[in-house]
Amino acid sequence: MTRENTIPRWFDGSDNMHRTARAIAKYGPVAQAPLAQLEGLTSGTLSRIVGDLEELDVVVEGGEDGFGEGDGGERRGRPQTLLQLNRQAATAIGMKVTGDEIVATAIDFGGDAVTAAYRRQIVDRQPDAVVALIVGLVDDCERELALRSLPRPVGVGVAFGGHVVDGSVVDYAPFLHWNDPVDVGAVVFERTGLPCAAFNDVNSLAFMESWFGEGHGLGSLAVVTVGAGIGYSLTARGELVDGSNASYGLAAHVPLDSRGPLCTAGHVGCSQCLTDESLATQYSELRGTAETFDDFVRDARDNVPQATLLANRICFRIGTLVAAIANLAMPEKVVLSGESAFVAKFDAESVREGIAQFRHTQAAPVDFAVVDHPASDWARAAATRVIGEYLR
Ligand SMILES: [Zn+2]
Repeated sequence: MTRENTIPRWFDGSDNMHRTARAIAKYGPVAQAPLAQLEGLTSGTLSRIVGDLEELDVVVEGGEDGFGEGDGGERRGRPQTLLQLNRQAATAIGMKVTGDEIVATAIDFGGDAVTAAYRRQIVDRQPDAVVALIVGLVDDCERELALRSLPRPVGVGVAFGGHVVDGSVVDYAPFLHWNDPVDVGAVVFERTGLPCAAFNDVNSLAFMESWFGEGHGLGSLAVVTVGAGIGYSLTARGELVDGSNASYGLAAHVPLDSRGPLCTAGHVGCSQCLTDESLATQYSELRGTAETFDDFVRDARDNVPQATLLANRICFRIGTLVAAIANLAMPEKVVLSGESAFVAKFDAESVREGIAQFRHTQAAPVDFAVVDHPASDWARAAATRVIGEYLR
């Protein structure tokens, strides 16, 4: 990333001020007592910092059912002032690039979309053509923000399925078939004037879920995605764990079923058996005819016996993968997402059996959720990374 193309920091202040603002973003609405404990600050120091942050309009009072509610010991009964990020302070633009489409939206600082979701089909996958679409989508979002008299965005986040270096250069994008590294951030910045960062898509989803979704207020969260590929990311205290390696798909070949199909790398029954392409192959073998992933989905919904059998197997294997993640990474919650996550709902009982088979009976039950994220949510996720940068 060039020196100019950097998402700015929200305000000038001490490290404690920045850390406190970030904690309020992650855990808010939150009372001062648990916040002081979390940040290891005395209540006097925290009060001064909060006063400064309120002065800057970074933090506002309000909100209900906050993290740490009910804390406070002898102060129980007194109303507690809860703190949260000033969601109206600014906006950010996010987009998700797949092999054939880009979806963009703008969000407020509460993580919610404040514009429509704009879409462009990718006809030409050459970097110049894709970046031109991104620039057009930035214009669409900026125009609607202006029409609604909302604050100008502080930056643009673009999420890719692949690997990004220096927060700007996409050097591995298998769905776009790019051969050489592309400095997406620099080109978008040059052509829009808005600071632009590139991110891995699954990491972005995990980040959004940690700050604004299923993992809000939790100590740790794992996100696994199924679809064209298998994605995996992990956060601890709202921060990504080793985000750069995670984008290489570290859960792509986890052994799940000794009777499962062979993957292209020669593994038997690894997590590749959960991809759309593998499901199409497995279903074709069961049916003895060429079937697609969509055929499998349709037939599973129509209770065609072979489709039901495959759905049972797949759901058990999903449970096995969830158990492996829960056992080894020990997250407080596991979220299953991705364009094919709905398959896990075909047979929730088999998912539970798959988890139970590989989880000690006395270990805490795995907190597990299947979340359907439409494309606009993946765009929102990229925008939340911009908030994360703005609050670094
Ligand atoms: Zn494999």
